[in-house]
Amino acid sequence: MEGHGKVDIVLLGPPGVGKGTQGKMLQERYEVPLVSTGDILREAVKNKTSLGQKAWSFMERGALVPDDLVIAMVGERLKDNGCRDGFILDGFPRTIEQAEALEGILEDRDRYIGYVICLQAAEEAIIKRISGRRICRDCGEGYHIIFNPSLNLDICNKCNGELYQREDDKEDTVRARLAVYNDQTSPLIEFYTEKGLLSVVDGLGGIEEVFEKIVNIMERKKEEVNP
Ligand code: AMP
Repeated sequence: MEGHGKVDIVLLGPPGVGKGTQGKMLQERYEVPLVSTGDILREAVKNKTSLGQKAWSFMERGALVPDDLVIAMVGERLKDNGCRDGFILDGFPRTIEQAEALEGILEDRDRYIGYVICLQAAEEAIIKRISGRRICRDCGEGYHIIFNPSLNLDICNKCNGELYQREDDKEDTVRARLAVYNDQTSPLIEFYTEKGLLSVVDGLGGIEEVFEKIVNIMERKKEEVNP
């Protein structure tokens, strides 16, 4: 089902596969907000809000933050006027319970998910890739020391903030996050396949190449709905 010609996208896939990078590019292309639950939670941790304090003990060991907290947080965010013409969800839903709650949130507003894009990659490739990931302490911009380096080592191109490696991007925690993905999130692949919404994209190509594949899928789907 098409969200009334609007762009309602869910980006699915294991940690480190490039959902954040592609999400930012899709946000520019379709001019709808990117809603990244990981970013919202990291911001809450940084600002020491009560949500941040509750969430950190789960995040630091690579576990999922409890569904009720994350669902309430996304429900609030999607109420924003900016999401009226669509949104891109990165990192949500991560459990069947979250996916069902999302349907409820959207149905209440006569909206439906239009596209679920699942980026995939082999685990060892993901671990290699995540170890090079860096993020700006001030604005949250993401970099990769090999695939998407900043102009100045350890300094953000956009705001001159300091780049750091996320605590949960260390190898042991990444392995824990991959196990959580296989266990709790990957059932969503079947959930959305059954609804006819899922498209799978190989996440290991170049950034532009992956982006082009996603856009092609979306344009093709749009034509199927509005030939
Ligand atoms: P991410 O940046 O998407 O990799 O998320 C970082 C961490 O935030 C995850 O490892 C979880 O601890 C937490 N998190 C983000 N999104 C969710 C979600 N939808 N449900 C539960 N926990 C989440």
